[in-house]
Amino acid sequence: MAIQQCLVIIKPDGLVKSLTGNIITAISESDLKIIGAKIVNVTKELAESHYSDLRANQIAKHGEKEGIKIFEETMNYIQGKFHTDRVFALVYYGEDAIEKIRKLAGSTNPEQAKFTTIRGKYGRINSQTGVFENVIHTSDSEKTAKREIQLWFEPEELTKQIYPIEKKEIKMDKITWKSE
Ligand code: ADP
Repeated sequence: MAIQQCLVIIKPDGLVKSLTGNIITAISESDLKIIGAKIVNVTKELAESHYSDLRANQIAKHGEKEGIKIFEETMNYIQGKFHTDRVFALVYYGEDAIEKIRKLAGSTNPEQAKFTTIRGKYGRINSQTGVFENVIHTSDSEKTAKREIQLWFEPEELTKQIYPIEKKEIKMDKITWKSE
């Protein structure tokens, strides 16, 4: 058993189908703690960084033509081109967080996911794009979780310090509310 953290993203189809509550309730079965949560507009840059290995993996699995098509449609999907331009990103923390959440999420292909899992209940294969619209992303290993959580969240956005931090002086412009 290991104390782990896991990034969960409720994808754009999960949001437009109003599944946020159902998904959070389903994961609450795991007795894990939410230590970060926010709504995010997924930019092309964020999508590319998040799925940095997906293009090569899909080409290896399906060949050049099909692999690139799946990759590009998945990029459109996560950026909200088919549903809404927002996702809900959460960080869960606790014992065996990754395995517990992946089990509740179910297989990547929603048609192969057990009917009782989140993807089995709410996912579909889009008949036009072929994309597995599987409503939720979850980290698949401790290494990926670290990379993904550090990509999506700043240290101060989490209620727990789960990775080492450092203090740096950074000069930058900040957007604030306009004073009257
Ligand atoms: P997971 O999200 O289960 O970790 P991957 O990282 O392999 O799976 O894939 C990322 C996302 O790309 C999937 O969640 C799914 O939305 C989409 N995807 C993956 N494989 C396929 C496929 N063969 N056909 C259509 N969409 C796919």
